[in-house]
Amino acid sequence: MPPGLSDLIEETKLAASALLDYSGSLINPTVRLGVTGLSRAGKTVFITALVHGLLRGGRFPVFEALSSGRIGSTRLEPQPDDTIPRFDYENHLAALIEERRWPASTVDISELRLVIDYQRRSGAMRTLTLDISDYPGEWLLDLPLLDKNYEQWSAESLALSREGPRKRIAADWHAHLATLTPTGPADEQATLTAAKLFTAYLKACRDEQYAMSLLPPGRFLLPGSVAGSPALTFAPLDVPVDGSAPSGSLWAMMQRRYDAYVSALVRPFFRDHFARLDRQIVLVDALGALNAGPDALHDLQAALNAIHDCFRVGQRSFLSALFRPRIDRILFAATKADHLHHLNHDRMEAIVAHMVRQATERSQSAGAAIDVVALAAIRATREARVQRGREDLPSIIGTPAAGETSNGTVFDGKTEVATFPGDLPDDPAALFAPGSAFKGLSHTGHDDADYRFLRFRPPPLERGPDGEPAFPHIRMDRALQFLIGDKLE
Ligand code: GDP
Repeated sequence: MPPGLSDLIEETKLAASALLDYSGSLINPTVRLGVTGLSRAGKTVFITALVHGLLRGGRFPVFEALSSGRIGSTRLEPQPDDTIPRFDYENHLAALIEERRWPASTVDISELRLVIDYQRRSGAMRTLTLDISDYPGEWLLDLPLLDKNYEQWSAESLALSREGPRKRIAADWHAHLATLTPTGPADEQATLTAAKLFTAYLKACRDEQYAMSLLPPGRFLLPGSVAGSPALTFAPLDVPVDGSAPSGSLWAMMQRRYDAYVSALVRPFFRDHFARLDRQIVLVDALGALNAGPDALHDLQAALNAIHDCFRVGQRSFLSALFRPRIDRILFAATKADHLHHLNHDRMEAIVAHMVRQATERSQSAGAAIDVVALAAIRATREARVQRGREDLPSIIGTPAAGETSNGTVFDGKTEVATFPGDLPDDPAALFAPGSAFKGLSHTGHDDADYRFLRFRPPPLERGPDGEPAFPHIRMDRALQFLIGDKLE
């Protein structure tokens, strides 16, 4: 099929599904909220806490519709898409409440439908349907592949792997790559080995110590339901960007599989899920990157901008020309703010705002509203002042999960510890300046152990405003107000 024709069919499919969504939403207003973020950014915890707060009347003073009593009832209903797994809300909640442990993280796309009965400010009763779509940010970072061929992707991936700490992590894969002849005959074993080493490199980059963010193809890290298929068995080759692969060559085989990856996985994800979202929250583990150091921070910045550009992919399409830029609000949320004293929450927001500043300016000119918040979906710590010598330090207190940390400190999972989390710099620009002196938060506790990678257990439930059990949180209500507040006016 000529490429122009297949694009046209693709666009017609998009327009048809948009029309269906649109006509449905005239009768019954629906918001499709995408929740994304890289692995372990906090998507599962965020959605579980959000749904629990809406169903059980959480303590959300800034979320006006709820705090003013205009929300009558909220309930779960069967989701609209039969082929997507349901977000496992009940089990995630049980883990948090009954076992006081964090639920299992997102590894695939999932969906949940909430129906909210509310009273408009004018007094009329209405119903808002909120479809929450949880999907790995790694898949989002694949969307730019829609505009790239195998040769361009290879060249970019190789260039990136030769920079900074990535170069060392990529050593084994690079050594194998040097033994390959792209124009030589296709070789399944060599391809398998290359894909294995390339995937190991991506995984090692993701490791807590390096905390790199920009690592497409995303399904190499989070395969969802397609683990082990040939569409995941390829790797970059050192080939010219404008060259063409001789038929029957190793290069041609890699190229075919890359094309299969894009057409069978990336394009349907874009068409069936991403292009149908109205609102988006991007969760960011900025603390993880801050703790890993300047390289991780720069990498996160590049990933956030790439994520942001994906939303522009949506806006450029035929579909939005017909209707509107579909995603009209994007919230970048730095998660796990309960690892910081509240004096640093605004600084955290300023750092994330700095990272997405240029991207934000571009989007605002395209009509989308963007905001940044530092939040904790579930606040696992409380605050205290701790005297150390002559110093009175603004500290946090929580119960570390049982086990041994990377530096050998052992916790029993019951005893609380107080830790001074350190201060974030007040000038975010200085953080990103070449030669920045910031080497991560100190997180030294009473015994000077390294508390940087400490995982606190979830807290017990507290009593909410109506006596209902509620999770303590930080700024969840601000996030909700931005994401759906206007739809409940
Ligand atoms: P996902 O991969 O994006 O679904 O990430 P999760 O929601 O599973 O979160 C990953 C981990 O981050 C959890 O297991 C918790 O250890 C931690 N975490 C997430 N949200 C919070 C939060 O609000 N507070 C604290 N203290 N830890 C959190």
